[in-house]
This record gives sequence, C-alpha cells and structure tokens, in this order.
Amino acid sequence: MVQKAKTSGWDLRRRELLDAEKRTGPSPAPGPYPAVVCYPNTYRAAMAGLGFQLVWDEAARHPSFTAERAFYSLSDKPTVKAGMPRSLESGKPFRSFETVFFSIQYELDYLNLYRMLVAGGLNPRAAERRAGDPLIIIGGIAPTANPEPLSPFADAFFLGDGEAAFGDLLDILAWTRGAPKAERLAELRGIPGVYLPALDEEPPAAVRAKSLDGFPASAPIITPHAGFGDTVLLEPIRGCPRECRFCLIGNAGGPVRIRRPDALLDEIYKTRGLTKKVSLIGSAISDHPSIDELVNALADDGRLVSVSSLNIRSVTEDLLNGIAKSGQRSLTFAPEAATDRMRAAVGKPLPDGRLEEVLGTTADAGFRSVKLYYLVGLPGETDADAEAVGAKLRTLADEFPALRLEASVNPFVPKRWTPWAKKPIATVKVIRSRLASVRRAIKGRVRVSTESPNVAVIQALLSLGDRRAAESIARRAGSARPHSRLTGEEKHLLEEFGEGETR
Ligand code: SF4
Repeated sequence: MVQKAKTSGWDLRRRELLDAEKRTGPSPAPGPYPAVVCYPNTYRAAMAGLGFQLVWDEAARHPSFTAERAFYSLSDKPTVKAGMPRSLESGKPFRSFETVFFSIQYELDYLNLYRMLVAGGLNPRAAERRAGDPLIIIGGIAPTANPEPLSPFADAFFLGDGEAAFGDLLDILAWTRGAPKAERLAELRGIPGVYLPALDEEPPAAVRAKSLDGFPASAPIITPHAGFGDTVLLEPIRGCPRECRFCLIGNAGGPVRIRRPDALLDEIYKTRGLTKKVSLIGSAISDHPSIDELVNALADDGRLVSVSSLNIRSVTEDLLNGIAKSGQRSLTFAPEAATDRMRAAVGKPLPDGRLEEVLGTTADAGFRSVKLYYLVGLPGETDADAEAVGAKLRTLADEFPALRLEASVNPFVPKRWTPWAKKPIATVKVIRSRLASVRRAIKGRVRVSTESPNVAVIQALLSLGDRRAAESIARRAGSARPHSRLTGEEKHLLEEFGEGETR
C-alpha cells in the first residue's frame, strides 16, 4: 500500500528504514532544488536494484539538487490500495517537489506509477497538469525499451544509461528553474536519450555510455531491508555479448562494458566494516574476463559473494570454487529450455551434458542449492517441449541428490528490439496447459514457482504497446482486479502489436 499521510505507522516504518541504512561513502551536500526519485514498487525491491540506487545517487550528488526517494510501498507487500505517497527522507508529499523522477524496471509497475500520481494529488495526464505541478520524468529499463504506453503520463523520458547524459538533464533542469514548463522542456530537447512525448514524433534511440570507467559500480546504500539484505551491490559488467532471441539485455542493452577489477575492488574495500556480503549484479557475470580473480579477491577479503545468475556455457570450475570459497552455498542458472531444438531456437544452445557437468561441479564445490530458470510458451514450442522441462528437472533432482533444486518456470513475453518482438505470445489457456505439463512431469520432485499467465499477457501488452495501451494502465490501476484477463479490445491491440493472432 502506498503510505497514508500522517499515519504514525508509516512514519515509524520510514524511520526504521532510514535508521537501518548504511552509506558506503559520505552523504551528498544538499542543493537548492528539491527532487524526488521514485520506484513504483516496494522499498525492498527498489533497494535491491542497482539502477535505482545509482540514478538517485547521481541526482543527490548534483550540486543544485536535494534528491529524496519515494516508493509505492514501504511495506514488503504492496496492495492495490494507494494512499498519499511521501518521500522517505523528509516525509514530504509529491507536490512539494519540483521534479519527480521515476525509475522503472518492470512493465507491471506502470500501474503503480499511475496510482502514485493520482494519490499524490497530480493529474496523471501530463497535458492536464497545472503550471506549478512538478515535472514528471521517467526512465529505467522498461520504458527505455518502449516508452509509448506511459507517454500520456510523462513530461519527459530519459532513455538509456544514466552515466551517458542524465547529468546534462540535471544541469538543464537546474538552470531553467522557475521558467514555464514548455520552455524547460524545449531546453531538454537535444539531450541524447531525452524523449518529449508531447513534442516528438517518436522516441530517440537509447543513449549508451561507451565506457563506465570513472562511474560508481556499487550501490551507495546497504540495508537489511532490501531484497538482498545487508549486501553491497556491485556491477562488474553491463550488457551481454550473447543475443538470445527473447532477451532485451542481449539485443538492446547496449555494448558490453567491462569494469576494471582494481576499480571494483577499491569500491568494495571501502565497505570493510559495513558488511561482509557482496552481490555481483549483471546479466553476463561469467563473461567478465577477470571474474575468477575478482571473486577470489573478494573471498580472500572475507566477503560472501552472491551472483545474480551464471551462464552455463561460460562458467568455469575456478569461478564456482571461488564463489564457494567465499561461503556461498546457492547459485542460479538459466537453461531456458530443456530440448536441443528449443534451446537452439532460443539462441542458447548447450553441448550435450553441459548442464549436468556444471551441476556436478557445483555440487562438488560444496553448493547446496541451485535455482533454474525456464520459459514456456516459446515460439515453436510444443506440449512435448514443455513436458521435457518437467522431466529434465525430475531427472536432475535424481541425479544430484546433494543439491536442493528449485525451478522458476515463466511464460515467454515478447520484448521490443528483440528478434522475437513480433512473435505472438501464447494464449492464457496454452500457457496454463504448458505450466501444468511441467508440474505433472516434475512429479513433486522439485519446488517450482511460476508467473501468472494473465500477468504475462498484460506485460506483453505494455511491453509492445503504443499510446493506446495507456488506457489499460489507467483502467487497471484503478481496478480492484488489476491483473484480470485481457478485454476484447486489449486482445485486439496485442494482436496488432504482434505479428497477428495470439496463439
Ligand atoms: S538471456 Fe542471458 S545470455 Fe542470453 S542474451 Fe540475455 S543476458 Fe545474455
């Protein structure tokens, strides 16, 4: 639930969260221009994300700004009922900020963004907001891929890497302070990655930083209340050299940028005494050319190293041993599909027996638990392919009794800028039946979690849609059943955005 104004419970929680935070460096000096950086989901989810923390920190370090944070919910379980959103640091309502930034990772959070604007006393439609209202500027992975469904709600978007041009945007906001909105937006025009939906015909290309040298690689805040509790988040590599056909990062996440191990270690050594836990964030961790040395150095520094996910093809025994040496006992891999045919179709082929070889090494290294990610409803998939996922998991559970296997099996959602952007998403009925096949074939041998098929098709609508999808955001954000089945009109739109019919 977004926080209710003046509820002492909310204030107590706010203080509890602030008191528990540890900064990895000095606090930024306050500037004259009040801004708030919002994450339209829980504090817990936001603070587990490096992107949100880095963009907030960049705004906070700009000499002209005092940047606070706001969240859809301070409690770990958001509901659809929204109260007045207030900032974490000072408890001030939205309207007292001159600029409200949103950083968004997932399309479903568009509903929370809408709810936050309404609850904050702002007209969610940019064209109907008043002259003195804050500027609403939206960025993050999901709108960078496709801002259009959010276009009616944004004054401006920033599409791409904050390191590339977010500082320029802040400079212009600072020196145009007090000018009419139209003049300020006109000044923002021309900054790479800035999209003004009221003026521009179509979004520009996302702006990408060529190199991340000299930019922070770690999160400024460590907190026990984040998804990765009491952990410093560290990004050794951004982008991915592979191009799996469904994957946004691999196809539109920008070039692969590798951070220097000495610079990474310097940042971590500064957190000595604050935490022992380091989480390596990124999609291609095992493709970092110095990852073994980095992980071993972290282990030698007494750090417990966790990794978001490891690539089955590029992971090495040395890397697994290094992570195990740090004390870590769980890992995540994403085979995505269980048959050679589907893995080849996805663009993630694996040599015969490679997954088993990696799991064997994982067990020998001392790991106790492994999570595996699979997709169902993939283009070209048959019932037998889905069944093979369950059968493979069951076989792996038998073959590696020392490992506690867990699976996350989720519906394929087409994303813009990927080779499969125009591949139709499976119908809810097909997704349900494929997920049921997986579960049947597992025979209870492996714990499995799945995403709701309805949520997946809504996500597809918001991932591919144009401005007409904004109506779905508004309607669903105000509904007691925001994830209900697509209406006939929504189905029709989704078919239009895709190649044709939903299967
Ligand atoms: S799925 Fe993983 S390996 Fe494939 S492109 Fe995406 S990030 Fe890279």
